[in-house]
Amino acid sequence: MSIGSLFVVSGPSGVGKDTVLQRVLARLGRGALMRVTTATTRPMRPGDTDGVSYHFLSRDEFERRVAAGWFLEWASFGGELYGTPAGAVAETRAAGRHVLIQIDVQGADQVRALASDAVLIFIAPPTMAAMRERLLAPGADARNDLEQRLRRGAEEVAGAGRFDFVVINDVLEEAADELEALLIVHGAAPVGPTPDQVELAERCAVSRRRSHLDFLLEGI
Ligand code: 5GP
Repeated sequence: MSIGSLFVVSGPSGVGKDTVLQRVLARLGRGALMRVTTATTRPMRPGDTDGVSYHFLSRDEFERRVAAGWFLEWASFGGELYGTPAGAVAETRAAGRHVLIQIDVQGADQVRALASDAVLIFIAPPTMAAMRERLLAPGADARNDLEQRLRRGAEEVAGAGRFDFVVINDVLEEAADELEALLIVHGAAPVGPTPDQVELAERCAVSRRRSHLDFLLEGI
């Protein structure tokens, strides 16, 4: 049995990455890909379930696990700690199942250094203005200071060039097509990709999205 692939999905808040991911996971069907639940010290929010949204840990417990080498990667984001359990990722992959983790850019950099076969996918906004608008939209969560979120978003976009692929979330269904193509081309479904999906995945290569990333950086 071959080892399962490791997919890392990152993107700034306000880019709609959860919606794109959910759309694609629903299309692929249950069981195609395992989402490994990561851990955090941040407080639970309405709608969060411990063990599903995150493993919610105290700071002491998180730090104890850092010292014990429990995390594949961990990072501080918005003053809270977040980390990926190494064991869950390794065991799932060893069982031949594909793993997807949704983490920030600092975490993706660490995964790249530790697991060179990981497939790093960045979900980018169409424009920086669109990202700002989404963060400001009525109903957008106002948990953190907006300025801080914008600054973090700009930092994340600045790191996108280190990813393997860039999906642009302008039209949801198109972004979902791109992400689905990338996952299928890298083996995340029992059936192989169609020729269209192979072409779509190639179009998402970071080398072919440089001009979009440059355009975004100009908008920061
Ligand atoms: P939120 O608090 O809004 O759920 O997540 C904040 C950020 O932390 C998001 O960018 C999310 O992708 C990232 N994140 C979630 N889990 C992890 C993790 O295990 N490691 C790292 N490095 N980032 C994570």
